[in-house]
Amino acid sequence: MTGTPEQVPAAEFGPPEDDIARLWTPHRMVYIGGQDKPADDTPAQCPFCRIPAGDDESGLVVARGRACYALLNLYPYNGGHLMVLPYRHVSDYPDLTDAETSELAAMTQTAMRVLRAVYAPAGFNLGMNQGEAAGAGIAAHLHQHVVPRWTGDANFLPVVGRTKALPELLADTRARLAAAWPDA
Ligand SMILES: [Zn+2]
Repeated sequence: MTGTPEQVPAAEFGPPEDDIARLWTPHRMVYIGGQDKPADDTPAQCPFCRIPAGDDESGLVVARGRACYALLNLYPYNGGHLMVLPYRHVSDYPDLTDAETSELAAMTQTAMRVLRAVYAPAGFNLGMNQGEAAGAGIAAHLHQHVVPRWTGDANFLPVVGRTKALPELLADTRARLAAAWPDA
């Protein structure tokens, strides 16, 4: 392969969560079994319920807590885009237990510390899309996005070209973040 990046059609990634085409600089993509849009809202169809049963590498799991875990987003908005979520199949934030609420918050803080240590981002976007109308790709199982930001990352590529350069393989990102994640 030459060093020329090639734009992979969005259709080859499964159902797009947005209409931004991804520009993959490494000529390979991480395949994991179906973090695509579920057919229905049941736990049996839910990738976030299925992923913890597998190994960390294939599920892109970065850290496992008691009530919550952290994994890389398969459709990242930026390098290092993590999600923190409860193991339990629950959609509405007010329905979290106290233990889930506090660990989701603590793991979000840890995610920021780890991302700062590994990638030195200039800022973060944190948040949850509650409901499909609000933009949640998998609305039935809530997940908090932790998106590192760099000055100028909203440049002409995503704005004009609807394309984003992601220079590191998700598998490599996962390994680096998991290694930097402190033991609970
Ligand atoms: Zn679920």
